[in-house]
Amino acid sequence: MTDKHGNTALHLAAELSRADDIKYVLSKKPSLTNLRNDEGFTPLEALHEALEEKRTGSRRASGEKADQFRGFSESNIASVGMLTGVEVSDLDHIDVQRIKYGCICGACIDGFLSPRMHLTLLRHAKEQQLRLQEWCAASTDGSIGFPKTFISTGAENCLPILVKDHLTTNQLVRKGFVNMWACIVECLAENMAPSKENVMQLWESRLPRLRSGKGKAFLDSGGSVKVVANMLFCIARSRDELAGTSSYRKNPYEEEISKLPCCRNDKEYEFVRGVCGY
Ligand SMILES: [Zn+2]
Repeated sequence: MTDKHGNTALHLAAELSRADDIKYVLSKKPSLTNLRNDEGFTPLEALHEALEEKRTGSRRASGEKADQFRGFSESNIASVGMLTGVEVSDLDHIDVQRIKYGCICGACIDGFLSPRMHLTLLRHAKEQQLRLQEWCAASTDGSIGFPKTFISTGAENCLPILVKDHLTTNQLVRKGFVNMWACIVECLAENMAPSKENVMQLWESRLPRLRSGKGKAFLDSGGSVKVVANMLFCIARSRDELAGTSSYRKNPYEEEISKLPCCRNDKEYEFVRGVCGY
């Protein structure tokens, strides 16, 4: 029995993520999993469509709502599990995280950081690390502007004015900033998400060296992991968007990145930044 759109009871339960109803229908008529509605979707595909709509706010995504996405609900996750024939309680934590964050490559770090975005962030972070070290080493009595990329991508505008003032005039604060940047590079290099928690853990492990001097100076001037990470995300996102335009003909890491699997989460910079805690 179907409705006027060719939906079976399983399609309807799936679209609404009613895990208990899905379980009940499946127990009565498991063959429904293969039936397609008028749109051509199986119940699982109809659920994925509904989830995509939930994530983006519309099938014609504006991107804004997708930026606010922080993961699907427990009933969404249970429904996906049910329709793929698994009990969520039997899954590894990482597999649950991947369903939660809509990963389709099966390789997202912590379920949300895709291999392609991971490499993009790592490459940009490393490239800028060299520029930042030069910037930091330059001794001057006056103020010193940010490295070029920080200006051209607008990353320096992510900085609170006060922090920016300190950074451009105080070498000790600059050193603290560069050190925080190094913690982010290290996180990424060790295949960890550059989340607030992970980066701060590294930073804390360096505390004996950072408690006084440059580390303290950076934090005292209003600096934080958020301030630094936001700049990296800004650089990666804007250079990605500029790739192919007259300013940047080609993404320098394109070839390397194209060898990695694709994921729904590949270009979702704001989503990843948000889940990282920034
Ligand atoms: Zn993925």
